[in-house]
Amino acid sequence: AEDVLRVEGISTRFFTEQGQVNAVEDLDLRIERGEVFGIVGESGSGKSVTARSVMDLIDSPGRITEGAIRYRDADLAAAVREDHPEAVDGEFVDLLSVPEAVRRSLRGSSFSMIFQDPMSSFNPSLTVGEQLAEAAEVQRRASANPRSTRARTTSAEYSLGSYALSTLMPSKRYVSSESRDRAVELLEMVGIPDPAKRAEEYPHEYSGGMLQRAMIAQALAGEPDVLIADEPTTALDVTIQAQILDLLADLQAETDMTILLITHNLGVVARMCDRVGVMYAGEIVERGTLGDVFDDHVHPYTEGLLGSVPDLQGAAGRLEPIPGNVPSLLDHEMGDRCYFADRCPKAMEECLSHPPEYDAEGSGEHQVRCVLAETEYDEARALPDGYFEDGN
Ligand code: SF4
Ligand code: MG
Repeated sequence: AEDVLRVEGISTRFFTEQGQVNAVEDLDLRIERGEVFGIVGESGSGKSVTARSVMDLIDSPGRITEGAIRYRDADLAAAVREDHPEAVDGEFVDLLSVPEAVRRSLRGSSFSMIFQDPMSSFNPSLTVGEQLAEAAEVQRRASANPRSTRARTTSAEYSLGSYALSTLMPSKRYVSSESRDRAVELLEMVGIPDPAKRAEEYPHEYSGGMLQRAMIAQALAGEPDVLIADEPTTALDVTIQAQILDLLADLQAETDMTILLITHNLGVVARMCDRVGVMYAGEIVERGTLGDVFDDHVHPYTEGLLGSVPDLQGAAGRLEPIPGNVPSLLDHEMGDRCYFADRCPKAMEECLSHPPEYDAEGSGEHQVRCVLAETEYDEARALPDGYFEDGN
């Protein structure tokens, strides 16, 4: 399939009073239309920041400082080519090189996101149906009103960013009856029983699993091309998790939507994904197909993660792969060594002398950031026990 998203060399940094946090470092991703791409790693590895970077949801004091996020959309490319030729490459548009208003207009209709905590996506004082109807109304107006569709977006409209925005945020009283019907349809689509009645209820009247379904419905109201799911089932019990994952898989198959799935759970990856990137300390250290990563992995961190999988059906437990923690990314500029070296059972002298580059390993897309992609492990060159405890 063709690529729908090409993330090229993005770095996301947070400029805090304590110092600079390099949360994502020179990260590349290539995601094909219709695939489920997983990003897996421990907490603190930078996977949520990666997801939020793609959605342009990095808030101050954070910022994407480098790189490009190229999204394939021929209509959008045609619309922005004249005013922002530098942002356009064929059918791809670099979302970091177009005005904020353009990126904003893509949220919901091109990109949508679901989170671990569905409460954060709902206003507690409006019914679920009202909120879904509003999401549907945004989409309805965008397709009914050519002035706010991205295909016709003109430079005049960029300068009228606030106008465009106001048309995209209808107030409650303007929600059409079509959108109210659509809200019920959306609830039905995500498997909520008696959807007309449930639409009238408030978020707190929903169970966790039901609210998760409603959040998915909200995210799908704009028929997005790409759904980004950040730990979407982590807070749920195992049975409900499995139901939600099945629902996502079904919806993906029906709509051919692309999913970027962020998880700490390799069981979830095995169940859902076509390809996967293993993330450590702000970098993707190994990536490939499920077969590459589960059966033919090279990176000792991947090995450690796999060794820690308690239950491939997807237990909710945290990964405790290898003793030690993801290094603090505050001021992390180890630069000249592998970030994983202090936890790596196979660390050798050469791991300290240069940061490992990606190496194509085996079939096409399998890439590994580790010296073991090029060299055999050699006990003679292994770092002595206690090397890092001695303050190195
Ligand atoms: Fe371990 Fe060296 Fe590979 Fe880093 S580069 S993961 S320290 S073997
Ligand atoms: Mg997270």
